[in-house]
Amino acid sequence: MKNNINNISWGNGIYLIFPHIIPDGDTLGSAIGLKNFLKSRGNEVYVVYEGEIPYNITFLDYSDFYTIEEFESKKISYDYIVSVDGSDLERMGTRRKFLKDAKKLYNIDHHRTNLNFGDINLVDIEAAATGEIIFRILDQFDYEFTKKDLEAIYTAISTDTGSFKYTNTTSETMNIAGRLIDMGLDLEKVNLNLYHNVPLKKMKITAELINNMSMYSNDRLCVVKMTQAILEKHEAKFSEVDGVIESVRDINGVSVVALLKEFDSEEIKVSMRSKGEVDVSEIALGFDGGGHSKAAGCMIKGSINSAEKLIVDRILEAM
Ligand code: AMP
Ligand code: MN
Ligand code: MN
Repeated sequence: MKNNINNISWGNGIYLIFPHIIPDGDTLGSAIGLKNFLKSRGNEVYVVYEGEIPYNITFLDYSDFYTIEEFESKKISYDYIVSVDGSDLERMGTRRKFLKDAKKLYNIDHHRTNLNFGDINLVDIEAAATGEIIFRILDQFDYEFTKKDLEAIYTAISTDTGSFKYTNTTSETMNIAGRLIDMGLDLEKVNLNLYHNVPLKKMKITAELINNMSMYSNDRLCVVKMTQAILEKHEAKFSEVDGVIESVRDINGVSVVALLKEFDSEEIKVSMRSKGEVDVSEIALGFDGGGHSKAAGCMIKGSINSAEKLIVDRILEAM
């Protein structure tokens, strides 16, 4: 069923909120805002997350957040599950096992590749971030935003728009940001945490990846590989090097970037960014992934070199 913001019914009971796997600022900030709103309406709410929180998003307030193991040990029965910022059920990872015991599944998202997998689907592909949709839900109910909500929702919108630089940014995006500032957002604090807080090892790894990147099609396509070996050398985790791809995309003349992350020797996460005509969500869909025209991703089974070959061939075809 397709829904809009006005005809969504929020049941009373116990909610689980699921940010997507490999969480980012949008899914985490959206989960926090929605969680506080649902709690203010008298519901019990648990955010069950999977994967590490990126270094620059750790400053948000994670009360009521549980890992799968922590949540299972509480033996809680629940009524509703809400997926935030996830385009398909795969994005729930192993938490899909919780679906069979829920009365209703809500799907709140903004990806053009969303499969409308919920009983209630609130999918707005015009929204720059899921955080925008969450803002509109809360605003519609005259919810009283706390400082923590303001930081969470601003983080969601700012990170998914590259700090209001990407083409998904609309006047509505800016209006919402303005409303958050009017309500008392500490803009300096949030921006320091999000953008001026880079671990030195991330800078060093970025430099190393750029020194070793492969370039194709008159340097319009760049491919960088984040291997386990590089992480080990710098004693870094993936959550400490989030966002490296943005530096590569910024290079003059580059049209498409692919970043391959070697999760293990047989599982590669591919992130893609486009600055030109190529719609990277189409390429990601071809590998059962998803995303937006200018930012998309997928998982590829196999070695990092075989994944590179597959993805480069597909991108070059599209260019
Ligand atoms: P990332 O490259 O992980 O920053 O993701 C870029 C965009 O693509 C985000 O909107 C993600 O939600 C989406 N995305 C990344 N990986 C996948 C995937 N495996 N399946 C569906 N969407 C994805
Ligand atoms: Mn996301
Ligand atoms: Mn998003």
